[in-house]
Amino acid sequence: MSPPSLIDAHPHPAATAPVALSYELFPPRSPAAAESLWTTIGELETTNPDYVSVTYGASGSNRGTAVELINRLVQETTLRPLAHLTCVGNTPQQLAGVIAELLDVGVRGILALRGDQPKDGTEPAQGSLRYAQDLIELIRRVEQRRSALLCAGKVAVGVAAYPSRHPESPSEAHDVEVLLAKQRSGADFAITQVFFHPGQYEQLLARARRAGVTIPIIPGVMPLTSVRRLTRLGELTGVEPAPELLERLAAADTDAERNRIGVAATVDLANAALDAGAPGLHLYTFNEHASALDVLDRLALPRPGARPGPRRSAAPRGGTERRLAS
Ligand code: FAD
Repeated sequence: MSPPSLIDAHPHPAATAPVALSYELFPPRSPAAAESLWTTIGELETTNPDYVSVTYGASGSNRGTAVELINRLVQETTLRPLAHLTCVGNTPQQLAGVIAELLDVGVRGILALRGDQPKDGTEPAQGSLRYAQDLIELIRRVEQRRSALLCAGKVAVGVAAYPSRHPESPSEAHDVEVLLAKQRSGADFAITQVFFHPGQYEQLLARARRAGVTIPIIPGVMPLTSVRRLTRLGELTGVEPAPELLERLAAADTDAERNRIGVAATVDLANAALDAGAPGLHLYTFNEHASALDVLDRLALPRPGARPGPRRSAAPRGGTERRLAS
């Protein structure tokens, strides 16, 4: 009789994996903003996320504050930072220096991005990296030079993915080809741009898998509670917010009512992505914890036990618990 197959003994290992949880933060622009951000960080820490991502300002404008925030996250919290990095506004030499600095402070995850082109039409400097794909390759070269320091381990490299067409791209099919090219250059996972319609994540996933993209694609979800923020983000990213949601939010009589509507819409969006097979959830917090935690309370994601950290003084958890597939 042949020994039992290991594959048979564990038929669906991925089906039992917990849902990954992460948040996006941006470096504070003033001492008051820093104080409020650290309150938010303390609150988010109690939810035991897998990582928190830290944005990198357009043109590398906030390089110092971004690295400082990441350094403090490593030194003073239990959180694992994922550092965003952009080609735009940085020479390859500067980028290689920042990557080395990040690895030296203990960062093991980088989100490789091109960044938005300057609105004034300034041409990239001679020798600049053109696409996110070039930055992935640079990260891998720096990583290779530091291989012994990393115990031959790998840096996790993430990239952007787009549920609705990138504003400069000719088509959604082209976006998926770019995602495949980024995977071939060494990307380990992708986080999506914001999206506002429940089917969009599932459609991206289907397009990507058909094209041969196998890396995890994590939906990036923003709490849909602020008309001003939704409108502004729509302008910045070229992703049109759902008009009926904007109308309902604008018509709400109180902040509490607006929050209730926005959180419910965000939970629907996140649930649609999770039902479509999303391996995690990345919440765009805008450095505020209240709405993100309200969304999380309603979702009650299947998550492993909390690591030590300060406890959150929040309202009791409600909502329907999502169960791990068995
Ligand atoms: P790329 O993948 O390089 O694509 C840029 C454009 O070039 C696309 O239109 C693509 O179709 C095209 N393209 C790419 N490769 C090729 C190729 N080989 N041949 C032909 N065309 C190609 N911006 C910031 O400034 N700071 C941040 O911290 C930041 N964080 C982000 C986090 C997430 C999760 C997301 C989704 C976006 C973030 N952005 C950030 C915005 C991002 O920089 C912009 O969306 C930017 O316009 C594109 O970046 P990218 O990495 O997708 O670029």
